[in-house]
Amino acid sequence: MSALLQERPAVAPPTRAAFDPKAVRRQFPVFARNPGLVFLDTAASAQKPDCVIDGLAEYYRADYANVHRGVYGLSARSTARFEAARDRVAQFLNAADASEIVFVRGATEGINLVAQAWGPAFLKPGDQIVVSELEHHSNIVPWQMLCHRLGTELVVAPIDDGGALDLAAFAGLLTSRTRLVAMTHVANVTGGVVPVERVVQLAHAAGAKVLLDGCQAVPRLPVDVQALGCDFYVFSGHKCYGPTGIGVLYARRAVLDAMPPWQGGGDMIRTVTFAETTYQDAPQRFEAGTPDIAGAVGLALALDFMDGLGMDAIREHEAALTRHARSALSGLPGVTIVGAGAESVGVVSFEVDGLHPHDLATIFDQHDVAIRAGHHCAQPLMDRLGLVATARASFGVYSDEDDVAALVAAVRAAQRLFGLVSAR
Ligand code: PMP
Repeated sequence: MSALLQERPAVAPPTRAAFDPKAVRRQFPVFARNPGLVFLDTAASAQKPDCVIDGLAEYYRADYANVHRGVYGLSARSTARFEAARDRVAQFLNAADASEIVFVRGATEGINLVAQAWGPAFLKPGDQIVVSELEHHSNIVPWQMLCHRLGTELVVAPIDDGGALDLAAFAGLLTSRTRLVAMTHVANVTGGVVPVERVVQLAHAAGAKVLLDGCQAVPRLPVDVQALGCDFYVFSGHKCYGPTGIGVLYARRAVLDAMPPWQGGGDMIRTVTFAETTYQDAPQRFEAGTPDIAGAVGLALALDFMDGLGMDAIREHEAALTRHARSALSGLPGVTIVGAGAESVGVVSFEVDGLHPHDLATIFDQHDVAIRAGHHCAQPLMDRLGLVATARASFGVYSDEDDVAALVAAVRAAQRLFGLVSAR
């Protein structure tokens, strides 16, 4: 090695400022307005940062008008904001083109759109749709309704006793009759990260299309739809620090182009006569009526916010906090944690011996600790686990170890209240 090379100072890799949830929390006004709040229900809906709240208000103040139809400057500006939001979503998911992004009300509507537009066009009686035992009702019921309508079959891929998708069993279910696999990316009850890359490979090898439900993944992991290779990907804006009422259906261009329209109305047509209507190309063909313009603008701001923190950093933060919570809770007598498989992020479900989860959540509320108790819209998973309900704590970018400490203290307090542990 030359002396020159030896003398060159080592170049430190670029470092991102350490993730500081306390600093992040200061950007969320709900915590200043509700001092003492321990918010552990982010999986149901995330709180909103100032940049989203203020940005939305500013959009309404400065740029608001209906989109696409106006020739005047304000409408053109509003349209530009709306379409820029579509570009932003495409970039965030690494979609090949913005035309692959359909704005919908949320993940639920995205899944229903696929079920009702793609389903009848491409499925015939006897075809099979595979879901997993981990699914939220919104990734079960639309398929069940479709099966009743078309005579297709719903096939359920099991989880193993540790709570992970049983990949071997899943692979064994795939046949030439499998037309679609609809699966969650991160499970909303357990926080388990499903190996969706492998799911997509196996499903495609069997000739099936794949829809991934990214509701709990998009706020917590970097998502690259091209790398995943999925055909459809859905998520909700309100779970990733954006407004309610907006969500995204991503579909590969070729798949979207082949789909007939879903709802009819303004904005999705090219020409209308009483005899016949011709339709716009995707994505406008799937967006009948005035869209949630402000919702899309707010969602783009939320994606900017998450990218500002760094999706890798968010994943690391949430995974570390989840590990910490699982370890802290499992150290408590009488507490059982629901298995999530090898990797989990952002969510932990648990039971406390002798206490119904609803009672637990009510007692927690007296300590200002907000958790969710119930079946979490996953009754088939509850059946599989042999439970009626769980208590679920879930995290966001503003959550930290103090929240976990408050959770642990609340469990102890509930146990003491019911005489389940000594009062010491
Ligand atoms: N899928 C998963 C995994 C979810 O967690 C949720 C929300 N709890 C949904 C779908 C439905 O989302 P939304 O109600 O926003 O449509």
